Amino acid sequence: MTSPKPSHFIQDIVDEDLKTQRWQGRVHTRFPPEPNGYLHIGHSKSICLNFGLARANGGLFNLRFDDTNPAKEDQEYVDSIIADVKWLGGDFGDRLFFASDYFEQMYAFAVQLVKKGKAYVCDLNAEQMREHRGTFEKPGIDSPFRNRTVEENLDLLGRMRAGEFADGAKTLRAKIDMASGNINLRDPVMYRIIRAHHHRTGDKWCIYPSYDWAHGLEDSLEKITHSICTLEFENHRPLYDWFLNELGVYHPQQIEFARLNLNYTVMSKRKLLALVNEKHVRGWDDPRMPTISALRRRGCTPEALWKFNEEVGVTRINSVIDVGRLENAMRDDLGKRAPRRMAVLKPLKVVLENYPEGQVEEFEASNHPEDASMGTRKVQFSRELYIDADDFMVDPPKKFFRLGPGREVRLKVAGYFITCKDVVKNAAGEVVELICTVDLATKGGEAPDGRKVKGTIHWVSAPHAVNAEVRLFDRLFVAENPDAEGKDYKELLNPHSLVVLADAKLEPALAHAKISEGVQFERVGYFCADLDSKPGALVFNRTVTLKDSWAKVAAKSE
Ligand code: ATP
Ligand code: MG
Repeated sequence: MTSPKPSHFIQDIVDEDLKTQRWQGRVHTRFPPEPNGYLHIGHSKSICLNFGLARANGGLFNLRFDDTNPAKEDQEYVDSIIADVKWLGGDFGDRLFFASDYFEQMYAFAVQLVKKGKAYVCDLNAEQMREHRGTFEKPGIDSPFRNRTVEENLDLLGRMRAGEFADGAKTLRAKIDMASGNINLRDPVMYRIIRAHHHRTGDKWCIYPSYDWAHGLEDSLEKITHSICTLEFENHRPLYDWFLNELGVYHPQQIEFARLNLNYTVMSKRKLLALVNEKHVRGWDDPRMPTISALRRRGCTPEALWKFNEEVGVTRINSVIDVGRLENAMRDDLGKRAPRRMAVLKPLKVVLENYPEGQVEEFEASNHPEDASMGTRKVQFSRELYIDADDFMVDPPKKFFRLGPGREVRLKVAGYFITCKDVVKNAAGEVVELICTVDLATKGGEAPDGRKVKGTIHWVSAPHAVNAEVRLFDRLFVAENPDAEGKDYKELLNPHSLVVLADAKLEPALAHAKISEGVQFERVGYFCADLDSKPGALVFNRTVTLKDSWAKVAAKSE
């Protein structure tokens, strides 16, 4: 399956490679997550990029877990990552790989480097190693263990693996150049001793490879052509190349691009994990999180994410993308696909005093104003309705074109004009019910006498309505850059990021809404049934508002 070629500098590199037959016409990419958290929207950029290149160029795409750091990894993360990649459409066929499956081969490669005099066992502890490493300005100093013989190194490496030494007591290091201008080349660590249970290899290993050592080997073993990573790894590329050159094995091309950064959120897995563990959110898939599972739960579609990533593009310049662009992508996508429904989030009862008791009319309402193929559904109308409390004001200003004492509005779908005759208040003085009249001659939305009304509001028939809890999500942080130095991101959480409306009234068609499938609540926004939703206990999430309303909300909370 191929698709139109993307236009960015990496596709240009691929085009050139195809022309020169650098990889014999092959394009083979991979997405290499570490299973130490759930995937976030930044990862979606990498998946769309890597899978997008494979798809557009008739190539292959691997999903490979970089599970080299057992302390933080977990099967739960493996499962969620597989589900998220599939949901996004990333087709890895039968090419699901784990770095841990290569541990034996990696070890053999390490022995090869030791034999070549290019790696040695070092007894410096972490702190001593830091001292020896030097700085940007100052060259490093050779480890006193750097000149161990090949025999001694082979013996010690074997004993490291066999578990003879304590955690952290020794490392295996590449023997490169302690004076290199690139700190990554100052004899980097290849293996460290860590007695940690691995979610796949169990207790078989007590030495684990470093990222830099492992990553190129994984790419090489899988015959990846273009090993795409984010810009922070640019300075690691000489090391990537050094390892593969010294081993004389198949050697992919590492290419760096700028990572996706979004404002009003954090994307570090460590910080996301803290939000989950400290219960600032309800879980990794809490719809306020920037994770893929949260976006899915909130009602975002894979198509919207692809569109967003396409629009953001692939460059080598770091920038921060406005989260409003993600919201716009969701709006555009849902605008086309979401059927229209009526839902009243803050119900206010309306009694139409001149409408016959017990009478029910049914209106055929279109599911989408611009797409007749989406069909229609029946909407019941009766003497008692709910309208949204925000569509009524006791003392409305002139420009308020909705309902107020003595004012007339049109009802969506039915077309009827209603006029507010009386306001019923409770002991506390709150409005609890409106007594209105309906002009039966205005059915369909036109008055025979030609009089006009400015406002049209939505409603649901009270006896037919179904109850629901509606969760309104907003940005998780009030600050544009919660990561900014000198601030604690947890103190910048938006206290209004979740507003629960427990008593919403929905038109009955919504009782059967499928989980996560977008609907538009007319005049209100895009919503979907939440994972928690059950018949009789419906729960809806707001995916995104109809228009960008953040500016207003931000001003209010100041
Ligand atoms: P960490 O290394 O701190 O655990 P990470 O986000 O780099 O976090 P990985 O599992 O290593 O996590 O990421 C998998 C892949 O996704 C990597 O190839 C990485 O380059 C890419 N990636 C991660 N974050 C982003 C981002 N914000 N934008 C684009 N690509 C990203
Ligand atoms: Mg990483």
